[in-house]
Amino acid sequence: MKNFKTIQVELSVSRKKYITPHYIRVFLTGEQVSMLENTTVGVNNKILIPPKGLNKIYFPEFDYEKMQWIPQPDEIRPIVRTYTHRGIDLEKNEVWIDFVAHGDEGPASAWAINAEKGDVLGILMKDGKTELYGKADHYLLIGDATAIPVISAILEDLPSTAKGTCILEVDSKIDEQNLETLADIEFIWLHNEHPQEGSQLVDTVKKLNLPESSRSGYVAAEFSSVKEIRRYLRKEKHWKQEELYAYSYWKSGVAEDKSAMERHEENAEVEAK
Ligand SMILES: Cc1cc2nc3c(=O)[nH]c(=O)nc-3n(C[C@H](O)[C@H](O)[C@H](O)COP(=O)(O)OP(=O)(O)OC[C@H]3O[C@@H](n4cnc5c(N)ncnc54)[C@H](O)[C@@H]3O)c2cc1C
Repeated sequence: MKNFKTIQVELSVSRKKYITPHYIRVFLTGEQVSMLENTTVGVNNKILIPPKGLNKIYFPEFDYEKMQWIPQPDEIRPIVRTYTHRGIDLEKNEVWIDFVAHGDEGPASAWAINAEKGDVLGILMKDGKTELYGKADHYLLIGDATAIPVISAILEDLPSTAKGTCILEVDSKIDEQNLETLADIEFIWLHNEHPQEGSQLVDTVKKLNLPESSRSGYVAAEFSSVKEIRRYLRKEKHWKQEELYAYSYWKSGVAEDKSAMERHEENAEVEAK
């Protein structure tokens, strides 16, 4: 296994763009952008949001003797969430992250909605190039809006010989995006104004004619959908573990940092059965 170094940078907002009404691209700049030169677009990162009134990131420090994070006082402790490294342009000295604007109740969503030029954001991520998805002839890409960044990165990387289906659930018709790919992909867009209350992803997957050989699945969405899609593909359709990556990106009603353990455990539990 590769031993990746973790990069820690403090960047600030250079500009932002609403790609659709519920999807904001935030561009970040700063002296440390070049430290991210060798990272893989599409992999996850940790964003650190400073507490209100503070425009500086106090990165948490690890106590290697006690093997634990050193607690930080509330006034400086950043809020940590998991996002996706969506792009980097070294000439413009920018990186960007795409945020689903799901309202003000989540600190990360609220931060992106209110972000202004000069606002700082901390980023932690693994250095080095890594393989984002399993290679095959047929792809099944499934996600809600939070997965658009990673699925876009996969689509952009696929060769023209690849075939597949991509199911994405967004708020409404106006939130559909033009995703670039050379591959022969059938796009199925689903609309759901209340993703906290359920999703059509599972039912849609169950209606598909699935590929029987040389297949690679990538599923990222809300906890319940991922759990059922993984169960369906692995147990009923006999997809092998290496043919499927399925990971819940959030859990309805629970903040991301509070559901992390449960989401990890669920992933492990289904695979172990
Ligand atoms: C590996 C990985 C990569 C991710 N990449 C991205 C990314 O690139 N872009 C992105 O937007 N998200 C991404 N996510 C999902 C993101 O981390 C969660 O949506 C997170 O909960 C957002 O934090 P928050 O502070 O806005 O809300 P939280 O404080 O975590 O949650 C507050 C409330 O909002 C609800 N909520 C959270 N997310 C949503 C949502 N999307 N729609 C409706 N309700 C929601 C929660 O259930 C909770 O009730 C990723 C998650 C993982 C694990």
